[in-house]
Amino acid sequence: MPFFSTSVDKRSRSSMVHFLGTHTRHEIGNGYQSSYAHNVKIRNLRLGDLADKAHDLIQLDDTWRELQQTIDEFDKAMGYRYTIASAGHSNGYLVLLESERVPSGYKSHCRTCGQRNYKSIADVSMLSKTPQGLIALEVIKNGVFVPDEVYLDRDAVKQIDLSKSIKLMAIADAKRRYKDFTMSNRCGACGAQGDKGLVNYEKPHMTVNVFSYRSIDAERDFADWSLHGLRERVLTVKAFDRACDSIRENFIFMLQSCDVVEETILVPKTVKPLSCVCNN
Ligand SMILES: [Zn+2]
Ligand SMILES: [Zn+2]
Repeated sequence: MPFFSTSVDKRSRSSMVHFLGTHTRHEIGNGYQSSYAHNVKIRNLRLGDLADKAHDLIQLDDTWRELQQTIDEFDKAMGYRYTIASAGHSNGYLVLLESERVPSGYKSHCRTCGQRNYKSIADVSMLSKTPQGLIALEVIKNGVFVPDEVYLDRDAVKQIDLSKSIKLMAIADAKRRYKDFTMSNRCGACGAQGDKGLVNYEKPHMTVNVFSYRSIDAERDFADWSLHGLRERVLTVKAFDRACDSIRENFIFMLQSCDVVEETILVPKTVKPLSCVCNN
């Protein structure tokens, strides 16, 4: 049941401009920015008899975790270019924000405690198979700041049956390719190593940056927008509206179906409010 969603004719320029220009908005960032928003204060959600229960349920971390899943799905569906966040005093609004997904820079993670690490773990057995690999291991052990000539004099490098010029090339190459590698996979946080310790990510580990201070259509001046541009924006804002509807529906479903609620309330955990606003 649409609660926040409204209809818009995507063939009509004036209908789309009206939809975008009159959509609820809220301040974001430090108050000078704004974006599309919905009022999710409990008294605005038309929950009827469930409102009292809502005030209690919203205090629980578990509730927030459930509702966050809808936002995670939204992020994914939008290709991580948009996300939904809380805004306003006491988080009484959900707002649409721009975001981007980029490599986090983490190269490995601990299989025991989950700690992330910016270093890659050297594959010692693989590198040990070739003369260049053995030189690389020497560079990984001692670092990129040791001069090439010093590396040539080290026993491990001396023993290798390659010409001096080939060795120098291998040293320079290893300094480039393995500067962020480490020999040990011991976790700095929990001490686990070997099969339990750090392991490289198979694919680059990604993170999402949220542009909390970036307005979306603050001027509401759509005169120069192409029909295509307007449609794209309308689709994004409608997806936001639907996600807010889903969040409300999931919340109502939780209110109706959680018989454990009363018990849970006896041991309230840290408050992480999504939408409970009594004073604002
Ligand atoms: Zn660990
Ligand atoms: Zn409240």
